[in-house]
Amino acid sequence: MASITFFGGAGSVTGSKHLVEVAGKRILFDCGTFQGLPDVRERNRSFSFPPDSIDAVVLSHAHLDHCGMLPLLVKRGFVGKIFSTSATKDVAQRMLEDMVGIEAQDAEYRALHHLGSPDDREPLVTLKDVTELMLHFESLPYARDDDDAWHEIVEGVSIKFYDAGHILGSAIIVLRYEEDGVAHCIAYTGDMGPKGVPLLHDPEIPKEEIEVLLMESTYGNRAHIPLKQAKIELAQAIKKVCDRNGVMVVPAFSLGRTQMLVYIIHKLIDSGAIPRFPIYVDSPLATDITEVYRDHADVYDTETRADFEREDDRPLAFRNLEYIRTVQESKALNGKKGPFMVISASGMMTAGRVVHHLRNTISNPNNAVFITGYQARGTTGRMILSGAKNIELHGEWFPVRSELFLFNEFSAHADQGQLVDFAKQIKGLKNIALVHGEEQEAKMLREKLGEALPSVATTYSHEGTTLSI
Ligand SMILES: [Zn+2]
Repeated sequence: MASITFFGGAGSVTGSKHLVEVAGKRILFDCGTFQGLPDVRERNRSFSFPPDSIDAVVLSHAHLDHCGMLPLLVKRGFVGKIFSTSATKDVAQRMLEDMVGIEAQDAEYRALHHLGSPDDREPLVTLKDVTELMLHFESLPYARDDDDAWHEIVEGVSIKFYDAGHILGSAIIVLRYEEDGVAHCIAYTGDMGPKGVPLLHDPEIPKEEIEVLLMESTYGNRAHIPLKQAKIELAQAIKKVCDRNGVMVVPAFSLGRTQMLVYIIHKLIDSGAIPRFPIYVDSPLATDITEVYRDHADVYDTETRADFEREDDRPLAFRNLEYIRTVQESKALNGKKGPFMVISASGMMTAGRVVHHLRNTISNPNNAVFITGYQARGTTGRMILSGAKNIELHGEWFPVRSELFLFNEFSAHADQGQLVDFAKQIKGLKNIALVHGEEQEAKMLREKLGEALPSVATTYSHEGTTLSI
């Protein structure tokens, strides 16, 4: 009897952990941290299953809500291998090194101010744990670069990676196992990108007959406007704020969103759609990740690859764009007159340097905040998005007077139509389990899937539930 148990990223968008039990083996899809929820610290300190009972991990991509608990998994006794694409491995290492750096600072702060319980004043995982973790990684290529080969990850269970088009290295996982001499396939979309995003391939459709599909549903209830239109709107917003010498604060994930925005703005400037104005990417992590992007130019789509091959024109670097690493350089932006744009993390405005930039700019109506990604419940970003008049930033309240521009179209997630289309193209589908979505989004998507695929059973999985297959 095969089953899938959802330990996170089910009924919510963070903490993805799906345990697949097939052929007598226990395979974990992703091992991410919970973010934004009130009891998040506690939930990220332990597992609802014994780590040493897991035979192998397969990682869809390197966002922390999918890989952030891997160092703890190893520290708590997991001894198996972790399979991912090679770009995901490289990006995950940078993300996790950054994460433990922040954790060490946090712990130091709590120790200094005697906050929390004594064991909360020590970092849960350190750089040493990340180094240890990286020894467990084994990279596998995308099926398209690998003659469509299967790779056995534990006895009787094989996998294949298809491009998910979400961020560099992101993969749709197809897992094959045998039961009573019959082969079965399960697929997991991880996070899936929209079509036509710069830099990346479009999501690929697995060729296999897939009985059970674990599908993300982040934007299950919306339709993105076409990217072309979104670029025009972005150009208009930038011109408007530049004309009044305002500062544009763009909270963005260091991984994925930042590189996509830099690429789009580069193209807008080159085409003359917007003036040349100063842009700062204020995040050491985003700077590091951008370097990893350059190292993995082989996984880009054809259009971008052509750009990378031109010596004089680098997609992620151009005149008037500066990558900022040090705190001093970051602070120097406080005194700088607009117009300029600062792209900084975290994407949901809960922590990081972007909070300082918001403190400095959000109460002036000449300035603007560009929201370019999903804002989960409970985050500062969600409150601003919901029209909060005042907002708390590092313990102090600020009136929100900056103009707000919303660009969901730059999201790295597929919308409702694309998700339904994707499911329709899968052969042999019997079951869809919707994951990685809040209830309203997933329910709307389930309705649409019910209309499009009446013979397929679609469930919305809650945390802690098990699907028997
Ligand atoms: Zn993601």
